[in-house]
Amino acid sequence: MKKLMAANWKMYKTGAEAVETVQAMAGLLNGQAPEGREIVIFVPFTALERACGAMEAIKGAACGAEDVYPAAEGAFTGEISPAMIRACGASWVLTGHSERRHVIGESDSFVGEKTAFALANGLRVMLCIGETLEEREAGLLRNVLERQLKLGLKNVPADTPAEALAIAYEPVWAIGTGKTATTDDIVETHAICRSLMREVLGDKADKTPLLYGGSVKPANAGSILALDNVDGVLVGGASLKADSFTQIINA
Ligand code: PEP
Repeated sequence: MKKLMAANWKMYKTGAEAVETVQAMAGLLNGQAPEGREIVIFVPFTALERACGAMEAIKGAACGAEDVYPAAEGAFTGEISPAMIRACGASWVLTGHSERRHVIGESDSFVGEKTAFALANGLRVMLCIGETLEEREAGLLRNVLERQLKLGLKNVPADTPAEALAIAYEPVWAIGTGKTATTDDIVETHAICRSLMREVLGDKADKTPLLYGGSVKPANAGSILALDNVDGVLVGGASLKADSFTQIINA
């Protein structure tokens, strides 16, 4: 399986800034993802169409939206549908990012509705899961991951191909804090995630990429990518600059 190198640009970058960053990456990568790597950048809605156009200059790279609403159309002010995302040229969407869960207040079952609807409507989905520090300290790690995975993948269409789905494990306490989980934490937690994925996805679980996210940077990306059960990384802050994300992609 290729390593999936994912960027989450959160609420950063206008269309023009997104294009500038993608063009700089295209130059640094000589127009293609390195051997054995696939790139996806999750971009704010307002920059999506322009970023997708610019991404055509990088072979093996794609764009995604950072969120989606689980309906084809309707009176849902401020929301966007899978068809709108695909019309921008994007093929991916993020669901369940910790900022959507903990800042915006999305429930596990709403995340599950989005995941299933996006998959059924032609998008690849990266479902994010992860525990808060309080949950980890209270010994609830496995329970939280189990609940988020089971409800997040509830109603996923049975014919969903393994490559249409990715799971990103992101401990909430490591996102944007500069605190990376230790390699032991990552190995232990990814083993738990993989066994839960097998319970929910059956045979597809081992073909579904499992990414780590949380303060990944050029200095730690290589050692994280070398760990068991780590099929890629999801990067926030360190993905905003072309040179640092390119270093991570090449790590
Ligand atoms: C993220 O936004 O998913 C993330 C992991 O952010 P950071 O790399 O900044 O911790």
